[in-house]
Amino acid sequence: MTPAGAWPSFGDPLDNPTNDGMSQMARESNETDVEENGAPPAGTNGGEMVSLRLPNGDVREVPTETLARDVVAGIGERLLKDAIAVSLDGEILDLMTPLRASGDFRVLTARDAAALEVLRHSGAHILATAVRRLRPDAKIGFGPAIEDGFYYDFEVDQPFTPEDLETFESEMRRVVADRLPFVRKELSNAEARVRFADDPLKLERLAEFSDDEIISTYTDGPFVDLCRGPHVPDTSYLKHFKLLNTAGAYWRGDEKRQMLQRIYATAWFKKDDLDAYLHRLEEAKRRDHRVLGQALDLFSTDARVGPGLILWHPRGATVRNEIETFERELILRHGYELVYTPHIVNEKLFEISGHLESFKAGMFGSMEIDGHVYRPKPMNCPGHICIYQAKQRSYRELPIRYAEFGTVYRYERSGVLHGMLRVRGFTQDDAHVFCTPAQVETEVGRLLDLVDEMLAVFGYPYTVELSTRPENAIGTAEEWEVAERTLAEVLERRGQEYTIDEGGGAFYGPKLDFKLIDAIGRKWQGPTVQLDPNLPERFDLEYTGSDNAAHRPVMLHRVLVGSMERFVGGLIEHYAGAFPVWLAPEQVRVIPISEENAPMCQQLVQRMKQAGIRATLDARPDTLNYRIREGEMLKIPYMAVVGKREAEGGTIALRVRGTGKKQEIVAVDSFIDRVKSEIASRALAPNMAAGIEPVSV
Ligand SMILES: [Zn+2]
Ligand SMILES: [Zn+2]
Repeated sequence: MTPAGAWPSFGDPLDNPTNDGMSQMARESNETDVEENGAPPAGTNGGEMVSLRLPNGDVREVPTETLARDVVAGIGERLLKDAIAVSLDGEILDLMTPLRASGDFRVLTARDAAALEVLRHSGAHILATAVRRLRPDAKIGFGPAIEDGFYYDFEVDQPFTPEDLETFESEMRRVVADRLPFVRKELSNAEARVRFADDPLKLERLAEFSDDEIISTYTDGPFVDLCRGPHVPDTSYLKHFKLLNTAGAYWRGDEKRQMLQRIYATAWFKKDDLDAYLHRLEEAKRRDHRVLGQALDLFSTDARVGPGLILWHPRGATVRNEIETFERELILRHGYELVYTPHIVNEKLFEISGHLESFKAGMFGSMEIDGHVYRPKPMNCPGHICIYQAKQRSYRELPIRYAEFGTVYRYERSGVLHGMLRVRGFTQDDAHVFCTPAQVETEVGRLLDLVDEMLAVFGYPYTVELSTRPENAIGTAEEWEVAERTLAEVLERRGQEYTIDEGGGAFYGPKLDFKLIDAIGRKWQGPTVQLDPNLPERFDLEYTGSDNAAHRPVMLHRVLVGSMERFVGGLIEHYAGAFPVWLAPEQVRVIPISEENAPMCQQLVQRMKQAGIRATLDARPDTLNYRIREGEMLKIPYMAVVGKREAEGGTIALRVRGTGKKQEIVAVDSFIDRVKSEIASRALAPNMAAGIEPVSV
């Protein structure tokens, strides 16, 4: 991971582990050592009995080294049949693990999310079992569970083909049918090195453990893997799975190391869940913003410009401009003031802010001008701070709210770049609120109003997450508690449900993260609000209080859309390219049935343009069907077909996007009024109105 995720500026569009749309890409170069082995469980008592507290309060005393499965069987044979794994003080263990510590004991069944992870990780082993049966030459890397499934990395001479995947999947079904038990074994590092002597990737991993560390392996049938577990009892537990695709992935995520072949798969306890997931994947593919971006002529990238740098075509720029115009009106109404700051600034500014020290790797290189070193800005905060400090501030002026559509540049490895979602240059709808400590609560409340109003317009439901004090936090525990409580109270007073991301705050302050839920149920990073006492300290920000003394203001960083690039990329997928009328690059296309209707249609287009509607004329000599088909491909909300009858009657034959071949005859005047009112109200029409999802568009 680049340091981007740790930028003290928030609204960071680069770090969103829950985002399906891009998480896979992020993972490819972001190896997690899930296969890491550990020392024996903590709390080993070296002795006689362990006591296990069950969820109902009962306590069971069993001899140490008793297998978890025997404890479960003791609770009930039926429960053992449903059991996937157990949890001991929050640590997930498989049923064959000898229990060596006391603690809270819970049996995990298919209903537990943690059990699904156990199933998926076991799926990875089953995949490797199948691959090694058919391709004994394949060297094995890591095979962790991931969101919605698992993967396994293999080192092979030739990349796998789709046919290979089919064969592997069939072989996996055989491994599953064989009902091979997963057997755990503990051994010393030296023994493990012998065991994996012909697996260079595993040997490399082993070399990182100390000699006295206890290593565990798991065996199912012919396959042995270095693994800390846990696993399902045997291979037959994997019933509903599918291999999805294969992609190159650098060993350990390091671009200087060899390229491995990663096979992605999904697995579920229930067939319905698998089917629903596969359907969602299909939908996601159909909505891919990179494909739609090209088909709808919205944006592109060009190797001559550089990877991760977006070129907005007129149609895409129209969408963006509408969003910016909307947001500008909105925030001015909510008491913000607009500012502009330069794209390159003296790097001294980032020395003061601390970014140069901690996040240099994420910044673009320096350039020397007149003996001073400049850099493209990776964030807008320091510039806004300088505007605040341009004169003496009084408590009477606060809160001050500066907003900017500020373009920033951050280095991302080329392997993680992804369409508009992960880029190297992007525009944040950034704002900073400078206020007194007493004003924080009101300001956060106002922000929540703003978020509400904005997300409703785009048709995004959302969830809220409060991220609290991390381990490396600065400031006292009391300061943190006050700040966290302030945020929580604002949410509670509004009846806003939220979850807590324990320890997920930035090192200098807690934050609120809004996750947007798109039309197919995926979560996207949305607005963020960050409380920051750190930069005011570093820049020595002050205001004069009513007591005439100098005081330190609090700073709130907030974004609504975050990165404009990413937001529009997300919107393309959310709407499947069928933008609501107010955002649609082309709102109405007028199509004359024959050449003789063209002049009348030209007048109609002019009238609509004067009414503020983005209307165009398609009077090309192609067939009517061809022209209508093209309008459909471009997902234009309205097509007005005009023949002799319509021309004479002051009507149009209206085709509304998403309603198939249906045509309604409407009066021109009332149609123009209808479109104008949909634009003015920024309605989700014509497809997402009244809860109709754009899935069928
Ligand atoms: Zn494993
Ligand atoms: Zn900021």
